[in-house]
Amino acid sequence: MHVPSLIEKKRDGAELSAAEIETLISAFTRGEVADYQMSAWAMAVFFRGMTAEETQHLTTAMMRSGRVLEYPAGSPPKVDKHSTGGVGDKVSLVLAPLLACDNVWVPMISGRGLGITGGTLDKLESIPGFSVSLDECRALKQLERIGVFMIGQTADICPADKKLYGLRDVTGTVPSQPLIVASIMSKKLAENLDRLVLDVKFGAGAFMKTRAEAEQLAASMTDVGKLMGVQMSYLLNPMDEPLGHAVGNALEVAECVQALRGAGPQDLITLVLDLAGKVSTASREQLARWLADGTAWLKFVELVEAQGGDAGTLERLDQVHRAPIMHPLLAKRSGTIARIDAEAIGRASLFLGGGRQKADDAVDFAVGFSQIKKVGERVSENEPLLVAHARSQESLASVLPLLEGAVEIS
Ligand code: URA
Repeated sequence: MHVPSLIEKKRDGAELSAAEIETLISAFTRGEVADYQMSAWAMAVFFRGMTAEETQHLTTAMMRSGRVLEYPAGSPPKVDKHSTGGVGDKVSLVLAPLLACDNVWVPMISGRGLGITGGTLDKLESIPGFSVSLDECRALKQLERIGVFMIGQTADICPADKKLYGLRDVTGTVPSQPLIVASIMSKKLAENLDRLVLDVKFGAGAFMKTRAEAEQLAASMTDVGKLMGVQMSYLLNPMDEPLGHAVGNALEVAECVQALRGAGPQDLITLVLDLAGKVSTASREQLARWLADGTAWLKFVELVEAQGGDAGTLERLDQVHRAPIMHPLLAKRSGTIARIDAEAIGRASLFLGGGRQKADDAVDFAVGFSQIKKVGERVSENEPLLVAHARSQESLASVLPLLEGAVEIS
């Protein structure tokens, strides 16, 4: 293989063969392709794009760069969901235990917060003791015992993606559709799934700003999944206002606990049931019953305990992680909420310390927002529009202008 020729071929807009892509990715994984060469190749892909076939070959090559989970013969169908990320998107924490009430296995490998969108792993780690780094053997035993695990990407799963993502992150090549598709789908396909539902967000608080862009991404991921034998479905969901009433790590887990105890916000419950309906064989009525009667809650408690978490803290996480400052943002006049800008709320949560500015930053579990009003709700003058949870007066002061502009009352 002559790496400069492969870079030139892509630079000039030609299509790479399956063998060329496979060779490039396996050599890169072994450390035989220099970072500057791989970065140049990623930039060529960014400008030239990839055909559907190339995207599929890249996904397969990245999946095969590491281990693919294997299950005992005759085990139940394996199902999962992938969300492209949104502000207040806490769906996985409710959906995974709910799905596991059915006769399916949920081998969920999740990510950390990215930019203004939170990450499932950070939220789970706000539960004292909860470990998201199980080895494969322990994770599979847990799947056999309770039907679900929720972990982070291990060193053995898609190492090529891990290395390539690191380069993309610092070379301006993250927003390339074929690279995004291959990155996401290689990790999901390494779970060796039977069914996968995609929750593709669009709007102010999402990666994709328009419905058309989201639809293109969804269609491309669906094509790749189908070619690999996975039963695929997707939903396109707006992300203009945050999901539910809470944004922030422990604050979102607390909201999920309410949802699992039958008292969650309606938009969260509807989305969970919509997504569950795509991969579960249980009826919507049955799934709603499992949420309302405590079956899904008991499964979540089982999951938390299986991964070392202290389930006794779940119903008092707001006490375990209590921010020193709680500041209500008051309505300046009476009216109806016309807009709550998810992007501004997500950014404010990031600035309060709920997300990362650099990859190795620690996240503050306590900060964020609660009691966020929903678009269409009536409010009176001086009624709280949301409550900000901040670590210091300085951090609160830094986000107040952002918050003032985030809510519009008509
Ligand atoms: N998430 C991923 O895992 N990869 C991307 O490229 C973008 C989002």
